[in-house]
Amino acid sequence: FLPKSKLISDLSTYIEPLKHTPKAPTEQELSKAITDDQIFLAFQPQIDLQNGRVIGAEALVRWHNPERGVLYPDSFIRLAEQSGLILPLTWRVIELALKQQAQWQAQQWELNVAINIPAAFIKAEGMLDAFNLLTHQHHSALGNISLELTETAGVECLGYACHILKALRQLGCQLALDDFGTGYSSLTQLYRLPFNELKIDRSFVSRIDQDKDALAITLAIISLGKSLGLTVIAEGIETAAQHAMLVGAGCTVGQGYFIARPLTAGAFNAWMCERSHS
Ligand code: C2E
Ligand code: CA
Ligand code: CA
Ligand code: CA
Repeated sequence: FLPKSKLISDLSTYIEPLKHTPKAPTEQELSKAITDDQIFLAFQPQIDLQNGRVIGAEALVRWHNPERGVLYPDSFIRLAEQSGLILPLTWRVIELALKQQAQWQAQQWELNVAINIPAAFIKAEGMLDAFNLLTHQHHSALGNISLELTETAGVECLGYACHILKALRQLGCQLALDDFGTGYSSLTQLYRLPFNELKIDRSFVSRIDQDKDALAITLAIISLGKSLGLTVIAEGIETAAQHAMLVGAGCTVGQGYFIARPLTAGAFNAWMCERSHS
């Protein structure tokens, strides 16, 4: 089916094109990164779309590698999941997020922190007790912690994982179904699992001002979320027009480059101060 020009006429003399992607990190490097304090978080502000107030931030993992510079999750989360390092990595992310939240609290900022949680973590033995201990140590207000799970994460609707999610909700944590609309079992997951927040995937949100189908889907998700009594979060808001449409549609919370990019802790504080003075 390939067009003729793309066919390689003589494989014995074929030279592979130069790859521009850097060499993938190794398991050893990632393991060292976790113990050597190379993992840090970026915080992307989330606002109440109806009154404009900052309600919190999503914590996004970053890896400061001494040789390669800053690496983004797309280049190491899969490696973490395949190697089992996802568990220590997730614990590190949670710890950093709780520390930052406690620091905000110390400066009288009561902010929600949203943390990305992989399915393997939910299923890990002893997770609930360890989570309880960690949040206790950091005096965390559990109601201000939101755990984001993706629908592709493979959490079965019934059984052990569901039991853990219910227990986390009982502790007071918020549970968000992330990237809603992109997986094939979204509605089943929403129906069966104890989510109280719904995150509309940015593949819809970032097109609502250009594509009437993306708009129709987004409006339907907002309406579905509201009838189920969920907090609806729109991620990936990139323009003023998208922002205005979501406000008009009654969407609860918004996040995206139009509001702010993911920021280091210092930049987040500066952004907050600037925002309160303008
Ligand atoms: P996600 O959970 O959907 O996170 C949102 C991603 O969209 C982030 O990319 C964020 O920087 C980006 N983003 C935010 N606003 C905009 C926008 O207006 N336009 C565009 N084009 N992009 C926007 P990032 O930080 O590279 O993270 C990518 C994915 O990696 C995340 O997708 C999440 O699935 C995963 N991830 C991030 N942090 C963690 C973590 O701590 N643990 C785990 N397990 N996964 C993580
Ligand atoms: Ca997320
Ligand atoms: Ca998402
Ligand atoms: Ca997404």
